[in-house]
Amino acid sequence: MILAKKRIVILGAGYGGLRTLKKLQKMKPNADLILIDKNNYHCETTSLHEVAAGTSNSDEICYSLNLVIDQKQTTFIQGTVLHVDKEARQVFLKDHDPVSYDYLLIGLGFEPEYFGIKGMNRYGLSIADIPSVTKIKDHIENQFEKWSNDHRPEHLVIAVGGAGFTSFEFLGELTHRIPKLIEQFQVDRSLVRILCIEPTPHALPMFNRKLAEYGAHKLSENGVEFIIGRVSGIDAERIYYKSGDQIKTLQAGTFVWTGGVSGSSVVSASGFAQRRGRVIVNDDLSVPDHPEILIIGDCSAVINPEDGRPYPTTAQIAMQQADCAAYNLNARIEEASTKPFVFKFMGTVCSLGRNDAVGEIMGRNLKGRPASIMKKVIENRSLAKIGGVETMIKKGRFSLNK
Ligand SMILES: Cc1cc2nc3c(=O)[nH]c(=O)nc-3n(C[C@H](O)[C@H](O)[C@H](O)COP(=O)(O)OP(=O)(O)OC[C@H]3O[C@@H](n4cnc5c(N)ncnc54)[C@H](O)[C@@H]3O)c2cc1C
Repeated sequence: MILAKKRIVILGAGYGGLRTLKKLQKMKPNADLILIDKNNYHCETTSLHEVAAGTSNSDEICYSLNLVIDQKQTTFIQGTVLHVDKEARQVFLKDHDPVSYDYLLIGLGFEPEYFGIKGMNRYGLSIADIPSVTKIKDHIENQFEKWSNDHRPEHLVIAVGGAGFTSFEFLGELTHRIPKLIEQFQVDRSLVRILCIEPTPHALPMFNRKLAEYGAHKLSENGVEFIIGRVSGIDAERIYYKSGDQIKTLQAGTFVWTGGVSGSSVVSASGFAQRRGRVIVNDDLSVPDHPEILIIGDCSAVINPEDGRPYPTTAQIAMQQADCAAYNLNARIEEASTKPFVFKFMGTVCSLGRNDAVGEIMGRNLKGRPASIMKKVIENRSLAKIGGVETMIKKGRFSLNK
């Protein structure tokens, strides 16, 4: 029996969405493929902190979607997704006609989560996408420039809320960038303060204590000061934080929030049962009651059977889910059985700036140069897995000094 041609729509050209497209194009399903993203490029989100700190350019961490899209099979629509109408099977976009689907894959990634902290939305900066990190880089440079004019000390104070993975990676890069800014603006090093504010003394909670302490120690050695406190508000000039029973304040020209993320707001706008923008998906990554919709990456929650809690959101899990999602979408087209997603943890490495990192790879703890080399290997692997070998050669990290 010849089956009628279907339409698969993929939302998001990130780690999950673009890898799914790449796999599907190889499988050549009896379906039209449509990819929708607000940008016409793929961003290596895991390197955004470098652009924020000013140690990499945005061009270095992005590549054109044309490198992956096979125009014979796939139509690309550049547009911002507003919501999905699950009953009508349509995707609504800003300034574009609705797009209908037979099968839908949602891979729209994350947004910063402010937990209702007063002023954060307006005054906090966040590491989320190319525009947001470009804003951080420009903001820090502007603060140095302002200092040159008025010598107000707060311009040279950079505070980071949160002491997790993104915070440490950003702080590590910043410690490499500051000497350049000091030279450029002729500033005395002792005037520049880099602060990290975190409610508990336990930084980098995803690593064992020894590795986390190594990371914190290395950042301290490079000038980062740690403050224990819970950020409770921010305005144009001050950060307010709770320390014990007291509310304390500090003045900082720059405040970068890394304290939490949630899945895309499109998920809640579309009426999915979700918590912080993440949907607990079925074993085969489909949405309960909607077998035609699959959700992967930071918008999904897959429960770890070992502790009953969702796995942390990472590019690693998004790419593994993509392989399973492509298989299952193809299976649906062929009216075959889907397969369950099984996550295989390959380890994780947190960069602490150039040539230093901490990580756990296949049960082994790594720190210093070996961890940093491992980080580059992982980044190159992800470039090759999605963008292809040519993209890896063009954009890859091969220098041991960066
Ligand atoms: C600084 C930093 C460092 C990190 N380091 C690591 C690491 O070392 N290892 C690791 O495994 N993970 C790391 N992560 C986490 C990882 O980046 C995310 O888990 C991963 O990007 C999620 O992949 P995704 O496919 O869900 O979404 P993403 O890769 O974020 O892609 C989402 C896509 O959706 C598009 N999009 C979003 N909203 C809309 C909309 N409304 N309309 C149209 N398009 C839209 C975006 O343009 C983007 O292309 C890091 C994250 C950050 C911020």
